[in-house]
Amino acid sequence: MIKLCRRQKVALVAKMASALSAPLTCPLAPWRRSTTRNHARCDLEVKERRSASYHPTIWETKHIQSFVTPYSYQLHAGRLEELKQITSRSLKTTKDPLLLLKLIDSTQRLGLRYHFEDEIREAVSLVYQDETRNDLYTTALRFRVLREHGLSVSSDVFDRFRGQDGRFLDGLSNDVNGILSLYEASHLGMPGEDVLEEAKSFSSKKLKNSSNERMESHLAKQVQLSMEIPLYWRVPRVEARNFINLYEIDPTKSPTLLELAKLDYKLVQSVYQQELKELASWWTDLGFKENLEFSRDRLMENFLWVMGIIFEPHLSKCRIGVTKFVCILTAIDDVYDVYGSSDELESFTHAVKRWDIDAINDLPLYMKICYLAMLNFGNDLIYDVLKTHGLDVSPFVMEEWFNLCSSYLVEARWFYSGYIPTVKQYLENACISVGGRAGILHACILGLDLSISKSSLDCFNHGAELIHWSSLITRLSDDLGTSKDESKRGDVAKAVQCHMVEKGITEEEAIDHMKELISQSWKMMNKEIISKNNYSGPNSFVRMCLNMARTAQYIFQHGDGIGTSIGVTRDRLDSLIVKPVPMDPYPDQLRQWG
Ligand SMILES: [Mg+2]
Repeated sequence: MIKLCRRQKVALVAKMASALSAPLTCPLAPWRRSTTRNHARCDLEVKERRSASYHPTIWETKHIQSFVTPYSYQLHAGRLEELKQITSRSLKTTKDPLLLLKLIDSTQRLGLRYHFEDEIREAVSLVYQDETRNDLYTTALRFRVLREHGLSVSSDVFDRFRGQDGRFLDGLSNDVNGILSLYEASHLGMPGEDVLEEAKSFSSKKLKNSSNERMESHLAKQVQLSMEIPLYWRVPRVEARNFINLYEIDPTKSPTLLELAKLDYKLVQSVYQQELKELASWWTDLGFKENLEFSRDRLMENFLWVMGIIFEPHLSKCRIGVTKFVCILTAIDDVYDVYGSSDELESFTHAVKRWDIDAINDLPLYMKICYLAMLNFGNDLIYDVLKTHGLDVSPFVMEEWFNLCSSYLVEARWFYSGYIPTVKQYLENACISVGGRAGILHACILGLDLSISKSSLDCFNHGAELIHWSSLITRLSDDLGTSKDESKRGDVAKAVQCHMVEKGITEEEAIDHMKELISQSWKMMNKEIISKNNYSGPNSFVRMCLNMARTAQYIFQHGDGIGTSIGVTRDRLDSLIVKPVPMDPYPDQLRQWG
């Protein structure tokens, strides 16, 4: 535990203040070399480059090319259609409000919402109109489902479960199902909704103290999962995989819905496997493995990122394009963070600003490779959109790449000058350098809803707030997961270290503050979505912003899930993409959870 006293903090900040980086304009200012520390680092660069010692990929191209599944749309389209029709009828004809709510919720959690957008929208509006007073379970479920759909429903609905002191009634304690439903609903709060904070605190205490022995197995497992990560924060595809298991052992399940979920899951897996085969060939041909050996070779892990954000099978082109973007961006990030010398990084950023093939003349060989890969990828995208939609997206693409590289450069300058920014300075820059804004722009261009138009780019601009809060969660989750390894190898200070220095507090206190910032950012996102009911952008844009935050929390849940991808990340990729979902019940898990 590192704790700086005020005197040490002041001395450190004063020492570093003189080395504050120059404002980022073009032409870019040269590096400051006025401190002994800088000279030492520059000498080091000439003799020896830094290394992050990333392990080689654990997913060889041959292995990816060998993925197989007996499931295909060609073979299973008939059964899929039958099951979809039965489910569609159920969504249209179920009249009982509680049964309808549960059906909507199960369909969504099983990852099937994209098949039934119209039916679910109709069903949700019926639920919205029904204001019957209900028990805690139903009230909380209704509240969560309506808010998940961006509908405004007051948190006053929970008042009747509270005493005069504002606390939730102790008599509710035995209703574990109701308490769990309240816990999940409490994550849909907006800033200032104290009742939901009280609900979260009350329900989490009760659930932690509840005894598994007295619960049905599917409920016990749900409580365990929710204590790890609440439902609203879960990545949709991961939740679909979890919930297939849970739903299977739910005595009230619909066998048709379960069969549809399993079949759909396997068919979507077959799409991912095909995409990965195409991407593996592209990645090998790109030649980064041989030419940029210092950088992370993480095709599968980058795909996991993108699949978390955009999972629907018909958005294949978008997913493939965004994965390519993330692979190129990851290598460039490593150039700035690890390998590039200060002068090289200035030249590279300047070249990105120029967006010109002639600019490679000023770059070393390894930079020519990633610069040209970026230029070719960007230009192909610009050309494709111009040809197909008559829309010139070059200003957007060029600006986002430049903003991204400029933010990497700011971090590199801080590192080389030894400057520790304030949290505010750090986060303003880090929300760009995390790449969320640039990633979402690429997803918008690559055709969310398959119909790129001026308006889908407008949503990118109008949705700036949503992108900001989602990027902040992504950045903080990344920092919480990676900053220990990165600071060990001497990287630039991350949010936790900046906060420790600025406030003179312990690491634990700084980490708690970052977790609180994540929680507040979720509330800001909820407010942004709910206060603009029928959000001006397409639904898919909103979901993508939510999913980016969820995926970041998932990937960095147990540390650096990308840098160190052996272990949890490998198991997740295996379960989500490689291994089939069994059609029969899971005897092992039934025993384990029973
Ligand atoms: Mg970086």
